[in-house]
Amino acid sequence: RFITFEGGEGSGKSTQVNILAERLSRSGRPVFVTREPGGSPAAEDIREVLLSGQVAQFGPLAESVMFAVARADHIENAIQGALQQGQWVICDRFVDSTRAYQGSTGGVPRGLINALEQLTVGAVMPDITFVLDIPAEEGLARVAARAEGQELDRFESQELMSHERIRRGFLDIAEEEPGRCVVVDASQPEAMVAEDVWETVLQRLNP
Ligand code: C5P
Repeated sequence: RFITFEGGEGSGKSTQVNILAERLSRSGRPVFVTREPGGSPAAEDIREVLLSGQVAQFGPLAESVMFAVARADHIENAIQGALQQGQWVICDRFVDSTRAYQGSTGGVPRGLINALEQLTVGAVMPDITFVLDIPAEEGLARVAARAEGQELDRFESQELMSHERIRRGFLDIAEEEPGRCVVVDASQPEAMVAEDVWETVLQRLNP
């Protein structure tokens, strides 16, 4: 079983990843929690390069390739093994983030994004992808509250307009792939979001 969470900044992905992992564990399911960019040692190194802002910035296409390299390693050296062992893999961000950030917002043509996706992901697509949907302004306010003086990463500090485009990008993906994607209203209280997620998992995957 493979479940991913997607959404804009401050949509509460990591909180929901943890709540779902906890619930599955309590019901006796072996769970492997992971994230992107990163999730394997080499991919975590690439994460540093992509997010720290300390390294010169790649162009949009090169950046997409870097995300794809990280993803390929993450799949080869973490996700595939966990799935083969029968674990429930829960991942904070996956291919849809590349489609939304580098694709619909970053301007990298869809054909190139698809080609990279085929090369790296192949058949390892999630059974369910939760799109945590929140107005960009609300999400960014949450990020600002959480950061309290800490520096934001390169993507968090982009302007509101582009965050609204990213949101639209995720919603478009969900519309294109309703069999895989489930949109959840992430402006609800945390517990209610978790309830929506859990009900979907029960209905679709019957743990
Ligand atoms: O989920 P988290 O906030 O840790 O993601 C790290 C950052 O990487 C985010 O700010 C997100 O915007 C960015 N990102 C990206 N393209 C991806 C995946 C993540 O720009 N494909």
